[in-house]
Amino acid sequence: MKKRKKKRRGAVSLGEKAKTMEFLLATQNKNKKEELSRILQPLGIQIKTAADLNLDLSDVAETGETFEENAYLKAASGCRESGLATIADDSGLCVDALCGRPGIYSARFAGEHGNDAKNISKLLHELKDVKKEDRTARFVCAACCVFPSGETITVRGECEGIIGYKPIGSKGFGYDPVFIVGDLSFAQLSAQEKDSISHRRKALEALYGELRRFI
Ligand code: IMP
Repeated sequence: MKKRKKKRRGAVSLGEKAKTMEFLLATQNKNKKEELSRILQPLGIQIKTAADLNLDLSDVAETGETFEENAYLKAASGCRESGLATIADDSGLCVDALCGRPGIYSARFAGEHGNDAKNISKLLHELKDVKKEDRTARFVCAACCVFPSGETITVRGECEGIIGYKPIGSKGFGYDPVFIVGDLSFAQLSAQEKDSISHRRKALEALYGELRRFI
């Protein structure tokens, strides 16, 4: 006879609990918002964005020295403003031949915040004499959840690749056209293909694991 699994009294899965718990996703970056929502929603995490709550989270100074510190600053500010448990990420590209640069300065590598074409062109210029085997790099994503109680979860995900010699592909954002995994750049992958291996996916899965333990 089949044994029925006993459910611990009072125990709830994250999915059940999350239905009654809303999380704010604190990012102003449209591309990241789409990626984060795409990954978090199937995990059963209910998301509100700053726009849903009529909040302006644009002036959080990213003054941390690590991805983790910056993710915390964004999540803590979102939590303060909204009163909701808030998830934020900070991410970037670390290139070995450049001693880990641009790292936390990835968005403003070429000076102007968020100018992808200029950032890529500066990166390719700095790597112009670097051989293929030395063009190793990784995307890093730190994800942080801050609760109104002040409790905090911070995790990290990484995705290894190499930097190509020219931009290839038209999908994605940021450094995707020059970040090669296997034979393809991230900008040649469908959203689902990128999501299945990305640094952001790995960080959010780790966050989900921690949230299950936490909630
Ligand atoms: P953040 O908004 O401070 O986390 O800046 C992240 C920056 O890192 C972005 O503006 C991109 O330049 C780069 N970046 C982070 N994740 C990705 C990615 O998945 N693809 C391409 N570029 C990324």
